Amino acid sequence: MTTMTVPAMKVWIGCLYCYNSGRLVGEWFDAIVADEVTLTDVHRSASGSRDGCEELWCLDVDDMPVHREMSPSEAAEWGRVVEDVDEHLRQALLAWVRSGNYVAEGTGDLPSVSDFVERYAGRWDGFAEYAHQLAEDIGLLADVPEEVARYFNWRSWTRDLAFDFTVEDAPGSSVFVFRNL
Ligand SMILES: [Zn+2]
Repeated sequence: MTTMTVPAMKVWIGCLYCYNSGRLVGEWFDAIVADEVTLTDVHRSASGSRDGCEELWCLDVDDMPVHREMSPSEAAEWGRVVEDVDEHLRQALLAWVRSGNYVAEGTGDLPSVSDFVERYAGRWDGFAEYAHQLAEDIGLLADVPEEVARYFNWRSWTRDLAFDFTVEDAPGSSVFVFRNL
């Protein structure tokens, strides 16, 4: 049994019929099991008749990649797609979705994990730090005389390079860097 997963990904599943009748009947569940939640689960601390109760809906979400109401089956799909990714990459996946500049799988909103893996360029103290490392890796100034390299315009080069990347805030003061392919 896992206790603290990151992200937590919880959904508050309510009974739509009760909701529309002015009664807030529902419970918090892990998103990944949202599609297994039954009417009985949702009504377990509610009294009164359940005549008319039929449809369940995620009326609130917490620590999900997207913050909006959704169906329990969609919540479960989000849970599964995030859990498919190694735990240390999950915050980065969420940041990629949050950026809006991500590749969706099929026609829905769910991200394509293979595209994520291909595009994720790591977590850095800032984009400039990534740019310097990239310059070193590709040998940008390797064949240039030192007195020329000294005058290389890092600021300009980094600014142009940034057009090919998506940069999102990461925990702390760091950033996640993604390639735009
Ligand atoms: Zn109900």
